[in-house]
Amino acid sequence: MEKVILIKYGELSTKKDNINFFLSKLKQNLLYALKDLDVDITYDLGRMFIHTKNFDEVIDKVVNVFGIHEINICYIIDSIDVTCVSLEVINLLKNKDFKTFKVETKRSNKKIEDTSVNLSKKMGALILKNIPEKSVQVNNPDILVNVEYRKDNSLVYFDKIKGLGGYPVGTLGKGLLMLSGGIDSPVAGFLTIKRGVKLEAIYFESPPHTSMEAKEKVIKLARILAKYNGGVILHIINFTEIQEEIYKNIPHEYLITIMRRMMYRISAIIASRKNAKILVNGESIGQVASQTLTSMSAINEVVKIPVIRPLACFDKLDIIDIANKIKTYETSILPYEDCCTIFVPKHPVINPDKEKCLEYEKLINYEDMIYRAVKTHEVLKIEEKEENIYEDLL
Ligand code: ATP
Ligand code: MG
Repeated sequence: MEKVILIKYGELSTKKDNINFFLSKLKQNLLYALKDLDVDITYDLGRMFIHTKNFDEVIDKVVNVFGIHEINICYIIDSIDVTCVSLEVINLLKNKDFKTFKVETKRSNKKIEDTSVNLSKKMGALILKNIPEKSVQVNNPDILVNVEYRKDNSLVYFDKIKGLGGYPVGTLGKGLLMLSGGIDSPVAGFLTIKRGVKLEAIYFESPPHTSMEAKEKVIKLARILAKYNGGVILHIINFTEIQEEIYKNIPHEYLITIMRRMMYRISAIIASRKNAKILVNGESIGQVASQTLTSMSAINEVVKIPVIRPLACFDKLDIIDIANKIKTYETSILPYEDCCTIFVPKHPVINPDKEKCLEYEKLINYEDMIYRAVKTHEVLKIEEKEENIYEDLL
């Protein structure tokens, strides 16, 4: 009998055609998350097993890996005979403190003639006979004994730990997250990673108008996302020249609209260089003037790449709930200014006119400035724990 960690895939297992691709990616992601621990991973189409001696440390990491429906501490028994398996189960139960139990059986080996219900009854009877003063309880038993009879072995497990769900990161390609220091964008990133999209991130800073602390805050947020994403490459764009030019030359009610059009243009360039298929941001319908439908349309029209807004229809309180769960909230509310907040006009336009945007943009030489900003941008490779590694990926 071997004690292992059993991984159940959930939603993943419906992806019939490319299940092997999904599973090998999940294994790769688990190995990455567990790189500091001694583990071996095996799998078949239904189940994945982590062979290890460090159960607690491994589970601590595995709960943050997407593409997993359930995690169990599991015993693999080299027998498919109900009496043999029951004896092992009885031994395991002797160490546990409980009064009531229930046996639940799965029989993926259809050569076994007994039905699952009968197999459960047989095992239940043997447990009752061998361990005194216990009783069967169908609803809410103290212990649920799960047994799976497979081709040539059986699995036994008791406790269930809920996995994060979603798809293994990287199975759905790559995206570029516009990551600010706010509450919304890290949550938008988390939800996108959950759908299997590997993210790189882009942050616009405006030194000296924005501080080093504001940048550190974004790096800290990226580091939290790195835990789910398998590291994050963060592109940092110096936005000062563009913002100052906009501020000097463009009617102030259009500052935000034009500034965001510039952010979109730069993000689209970086995305195309890094083969990211979508931009992702934390916009939410109606949240601020730049997020009315007319504003979003006027801003979005400067790029062809699809822009995914996972929070488009979320209320702020629901966003905050997720931010708390993924532990980005505390960092997001640190009081450092963002480049958007510094140049906020008193009366931003709520329904910007696309023709006016084009007209105003002629007042600045934005193409050259965008070229310079992209050319000189800084790239950080951020890991969950380690020091950041500066990389010149251009
Ligand atoms: P808040 O949580 O306060 O709303 P926010 O980051 O969502 O903060 P918004 O002004 O609502 O701020 O910006 C909308 C979206 O635009 C952000 O969610 C983010 O995706 C993107 N964004 C804003 N500022 C930046 C920035 N400096 N760098 C990168 N992306 C940004
Ligand atoms: Mg927002």
